[in-house]
Amino acid sequence: MKISTILKENRVTVSFEVFPPKQWDKIESTKETVRKMAESNPAFMSVTYGAAGTGAGFTQEIANEIKNCGVTPLSHLTCLTSTRDKIRSVAGELKSNNIENVLALRGDIPEGFVFPDKQYYEYAYQLVNELKELGDFCIGGACYPEVHPESKNRVDDMQHLKEKVDCGLDFLTSQLFFDNSVFLNFVEMCRVKGIEVPIIAGIMPITNAKQIKRTIELSNCSVPKKFYKIMERFAEDDASMKQAGIIYATEQIIDLMANGINNIHIYTMNKPDVAEKIMNGLSDIING
Ligand code: FAD
Repeated sequence: MKISTILKENRVTVSFEVFPPKQWDKIESTKETVRKMAESNPAFMSVTYGAAGTGAGFTQEIANEIKNCGVTPLSHLTCLTSTRDKIRSVAGELKSNNIENVLALRGDIPEGFVFPDKQYYEYAYQLVNELKELGDFCIGGACYPEVHPESKNRVDDMQHLKEKVDCGLDFLTSQLFFDNSVFLNFVEMCRVKGIEVPIIAGIMPITNAKQIKRTIELSNCSVPKKFYKIMERFAEDDASMKQAGIIYATEQIIDLMANGINNIHIYTMNKPDVAEKIMNGLSDIING
């Protein structure tokens, strides 16, 4: 099913993200993770694409497994380091596997990357245009409530986001954030700018102290005082930190829903138990 249809049909949706393994010998254990996560009945499950375009086959394989579990897959695809032939071939495989949903991304610029003379893709909107020609895909894109790190400023970032959406995006998924007011303000700014597509809120449950440092470095997101307090109190005790992180994420989702946000994407980091606990904490809200 197309994610655009799911977002229209369901009052609230909660979806999960998985990442594929880096080596083939780990594919079975990732498939097992997918099967366990599917038991929590997410609205759909996304599968990431390896950094710098590596491991396209792994992404397809995991997307197929998601489909086999009866869950709608969303396949990520990055373009920066790809040729047009490569993108055509991946789009062909997606079609032959009946995978209708693609998250069209540029990908991060790898360290030391020198743009070749004949660079096909510089930005995600070019991939959106290409995918529109290659099939009847439901296409999503990324957005950044706290501004993409490469952007000069918010005005520029918003303008480029509007241009990308106008190429034919069906929905946006946000970068993770810990402060709901940041996301709610961002959605308002999008609407003022005329960006009308559904904007899915990206939530990352932080379940250990190591993860928080890396997450903040990579995502550039701000951390509210309440979250720092939780870290100070529980970071040394793994079980307590995990429980506190799950509850923080669940509360964040409930607060977003109370503020009219109906579509949530959880960066579940291949942790079925975390996904399950969050879903249990929301069960009456989702099914009500
Ligand atoms: P773009 O939309 O192209 O934006 C990148 C930057 O360029 C922004 O600063 C934007 O303002 C600017 N820009 C856009 N158009 C123009 C223009 N015409 N002129 C000048 N500037 C412009 N990475 C992976 O490798 N694999 C994944 O699976 C993956 N999944 C992700 C999922 C989500 C929900 C998110 C939020 C990110 C994900 N990423 C993934 C990371 C993503 O690839 C990086 O953040 C990347 O740096 C930007 O990708 P984008 O698609 O947002 O790019």
